[in-house]
Amino acid sequence: MRVLICGIDGYLGWALAQYLAKRNFKVFGIDNLSRRKLVKKAGAQSVIPISSLRDRKKLFEQYYGPIEIVKMDLKNYEKLKKLLQLWQPDAIVHFAEMPSAPFSMESFKAAAYTHDNNLTGTLALLFAMKEVCPDAHLVKLGTMGEYGTPETDIPEGYYDIIFRGIRARHMFPRQPGSFYHATKVHDTINIEFACRIWNLRSTDIMQGVVYGTNQDHIPTRFDADAVFGTAINRFVTQAIIGHPITLFGKGQQQRGFLPLQDSMQCITLIIENPPAQGEYRTINQIEEVYNLTELALKVQTIAEEFNLTTKIDNISNPRIEKEEHRYEVDHDILPSLGYLPTSDMDNELRKMFRDLIPFKDRIVTTSIMPKIRWK
Ligand code: NAD
Repeated sequence: MRVLICGIDGYLGWALAQYLAKRNFKVFGIDNLSRRKLVKKAGAQSVIPISSLRDRKKLFEQYYGPIEIVKMDLKNYEKLKKLLQLWQPDAIVHFAEMPSAPFSMESFKAAAYTHDNNLTGTLALLFAMKEVCPDAHLVKLGTMGEYGTPETDIPEGYYDIIFRGIRARHMFPRQPGSFYHATKVHDTINIEFACRIWNLRSTDIMQGVVYGTNQDHIPTRFDADAVFGTAINRFVTQAIIGHPITLFGKGQQQRGFLPLQDSMQCITLIIENPPAQGEYRTINQIEEVYNLTELALKVQTIAEEFNLTTKIDNISNPRIEKEEHRYEVDHDILPSLGYLPTSDMDNELRKMFRDLIPFKDRIVTTSIMPKIRWK
């Protein structure tokens, strides 16, 4: 199978390229390297060193054979069409978006950049697919954050309602928690619409927090700063440098988590099991649910195995979000496709400590505390 990865240079993209190549998929990739630039601008760097795209490609070819990677912006519609004509992908995995909630809340400029980058890129891809490869399967990365934290259970995309005696199936309401999350909701609307009117097919993955370092030959990036690092990445690196683990507010916010390697397994299963032509399918991709205090306690316990003593601080929450809420999430479709978890939080945390401690000096302490506030 021929798979194009948009955003191949990113955290998930680089891991997926190797995961698929090992399983004899033919992989192509594009990336505009914006993640590297934005992290640098935030005064941080990937804690695990990553080489230039050119050197990464060379290394990749040593281990897995030839790969075509083009440095370009997904919004470049004409160039995108040419590449789709040339590569004729069976599936297109779309990671190529600006993924940071804090970044999108920094200023008008940052929110507008996020909207233009994420929405225009996805639109370019939808139009190009319609023109060139309407049968290809679009695997789009959304986020569990599209749903927010509603008072009800969270279904996989759709739910049944009875309104004035009439039963109907509707898209489950979305309540994004940042302008970044809002772009994912807008993408969802655009993709569902494109499937409906142009008979495209897509799987929109409502993905929880993916964590961990990768297991393949060439490392993927790992960010732990307040703008691009997720809570779990920040907690582990804080423990490594002896900084208190910082919980936002009460620390009772719950999220779904999934190890990187299992996320790769899920995306591969989704590629291998496409929806029918014209179908827009939503899949919730999470494994374990924890609140942030439970997560911090886990990190504290595993840190002790590495002789690291750390304390936990509750700091003022820079976000506006529910700090105590229900979180019951359906996630039945992936197991029905054959997904079996291969790891868990404790194992992955141990591996993170092992992989990150050698790069302790690369953790930029000035970038740890949050400076961007929702208000
Ligand atoms: P990432 O930033 O590491 O990867 C995205 C890649 O896309 C980067 O290399 C970036 O340079 C590239 N890119 C961005 N805009 C582009 C454009 N216009 N043209 C070409 N390339 C572009 O992020 P990630 O953590 O790998 O996440 C991938 C996707 O999954 C994102 O859409 C993110 O929102 C979503 N997601 C990630 C997580 C997670 O825990 N990592 C959770 C939920 C959803």
